[in-house]
Amino acid sequence: MSAISNAITDLALKDIEELVEALGEPQYRVNQILSGVYQKLAVSYNEMTDLPVSLRQRLENTIPLHSLTQVQKLISKDGTVKVLFRLKDGKTIEAALMLYSAGAGRPRTTVCLSTQVGCPIGCPFCATGQQGFERNLTPGEMIDQVLYFAREVRKDGEENRHSHITNIVFMGMGEPLANYEALMQAIDMLTSPRCFGTSPRNIIISTAGLVPLIQRLSKEKIKVGIAVSLHASDNKLRNRLVPLNKRYPLEELIPACTEYAKKTGRRVSFEYILFAGINDSLAQAKALAVLLSGTNCHVNLIPANRTTNAGFQPPSRNKVLAFEKELELAGINCTLRLSRGQDINAGCGQLRSSYIAGI
Ligand code: SAH
Ligand code: SF4
Repeated sequence: MSAISNAITDLALKDIEELVEALGEPQYRVNQILSGVYQKLAVSYNEMTDLPVSLRQRLENTIPLHSLTQVQKLISKDGTVKVLFRLKDGKTIEAALMLYSAGAGRPRTTVCLSTQVGCPIGCPFCATGQQGFERNLTPGEMIDQVLYFAREVRKDGEENRHSHITNIVFMGMGEPLANYEALMQAIDMLTSPRCFGTSPRNIIISTAGLVPLIQRLSKEKIKVGIAVSLHASDNKLRNRLVPLNKRYPLEELIPACTEYAKKTGRRVSFEYILFAGINDSLAQAKALAVLLSGTNCHVNLIPANRTTNAGFQPPSRNKVLAFEKELELAGINCTLRLSRGQDINAGCGQLRSSYIAGI
């Protein structure tokens, strides 16, 4: 069983099999437990009525069902829901739910979740980066963020177009690839049809660019998508914006992304946050297009969210549109992303920052 087991969601499939065996129960209980936790989204063992009462009690005495408690919940005008959770050791993390109507297409109901408390990378524009690094999350602490929102959307009933979670993005607090083992266990449980059953096609990991781990991820059986936080097209500027670049510079990062796309068959996304006067000139758009030419990638342009670091402001609307046009003219596929939930501090780590500042 895992060294740290805050909750039943910290257990991998084989751990649950061992637990069932240790409790002297037949193996078909494994599927009943998995279905109770991941599909019926039980809030207590008592709700798992296909289990005998005595087993429900023994599970209750053996391992908690949940690892998170909700501290604060904010709902934005655009429908984004942001929640601050407390972990068993008192630390706090945040996660968000985003609803996309997508016109006539299928609506997407996306959970954006955290993978660490704080972050070791320390990007100066990022509220999480400014908080320093405290610890990795366990698999269960990641999974429980998804299950929390799955319960929330289910509550709204059958009529609701957003009644189940369709997409999972690891884009909250922390650097997912720096917590590799736990991340993979969480993805395993979230994609397994016996558990939560999300398609790997609908999962994206955002990374600041840990090259060796991008390479390792490309060899995993479960092929998830990656979004690489680029934000600059030259090493000098990227060293400043994403300090990890000093270890894994662009000449290593970009080929690793091309290789990832080739090995997994999944197009890589690049995130480019636009900061006024820092990386938003037309010359920088041209340089970005040159850097990415031939990578068959997609660029997401994101005007910066304001944080406490006043040096990083979003450009004017005109400047943003001009940058987008320049990239398109150069043949780069790109989308301008509206920052969601700005009115509720939905930017990465911002809710936690304001919570910590207030206590
Ligand atoms: N550590 C990973 C994933 C978490 S950060 C990464 O950096 O990719 C998730 C996203 O939030 C990243 O693309 C990051 O650059 C972005 N982000 C952080 N601070 C931001 C800000 N002030 N405005 C807009 N996006 C921000
Ligand atoms: Fe960490 Fe990502 Fe924030 Fe950089 S942007 S400090 S890598 S969470």
